[in-house]
Amino acid sequence: MGGNMAGAYSHLALGVLLGGLVAVLSHRLRTLTAGGAMAMFALAVPIFGFGGWKWTLPIAVFFILSSLLSRLGRSAKARYDSVFEKGSRRDGGQVLANGGVAGALMVLSLVSGWPSLYPYYCAALASATADTWATEVGTLSGQRPRRIPCFRPVPAGASGGVTLAGLLSALAGGMTIALSGWVFLRAESGASQLLYLVGLSGFLGSLVDSLLGATLQVQYRCPACGVVTERRVHCGGRRTAPVSGFRWMNNDAVNFLATLSGPGFLHLGMIWMRG
Ligand SMILES: [Zn+2]
Repeated sequence: MGGNMAGAYSHLALGVLLGGLVAVLSHRLRTLTAGGAMAMFALAVPIFGFGGWKWTLPIAVFFILSSLLSRLGRSAKARYDSVFEKGSRRDGGQVLANGGVAGALMVLSLVSGWPSLYPYYCAALASATADTWATEVGTLSGQRPRRIPCFRPVPAGASGGVTLAGLLSALAGGMTIALSGWVFLRAESGASQLLYLVGLSGFLGSLVDSLLGATLQVQYRCPACGVVTERRVHCGGRRTAPVSGFRWMNNDAVNFLATLSGPGFLHLGMIWMRG
């Protein structure tokens, strides 16, 4: 028993050390705001400390590749900064909206001892990755976005718009996370279908993100310039007025629901696979 406690403390120390390092580094590199770094730390402690490579690899792949993609296009995307609710530095809400479902599944698996939660964890991260890559590449591509479900063209940067480049990136992002967990997913089920199911769940999760963004997400109009935006404040401090959607359905709520839908799609896929 004493040995177990000592083991738990050394895992905790490892998590605090690695989590602290990544959080400070991300803040220094201007990838995360101070709040974003704190949320990152809270997610990283259990995953880095107790998860080993199995749980660390998919979230590290998501975070590193998405941050690189985001930095790559920072200057090119500066012109959309007045339309998107948030800039390129991720804040606490964004980190929790993208990683909170995965973090909760990891902690639940740790506490309950259910190893079968791992594919759902990967599906939640696959959704977050698919959506992030779709947004980054879709914005960079310069293609005119269209809003699902009717594919009506919308201005670049408008929430809920999709591009062909973005959809392909979403598929690539979902599959990349599935591949990063592949060794452990195979140990889980032995069936290669799980790889495709996780990747596809991520892709479908990103479609949920676009669909919610196009329908229920709150949109505001700037009284000064008339632009429709996700932002509460525009044109040097002018308060925008809501024009459509639900007030509580902001960008973070949409992301959270989309990352929750990924494990949901995976569950449906697994039922279908067995049936
Ligand atoms: Zn304005």
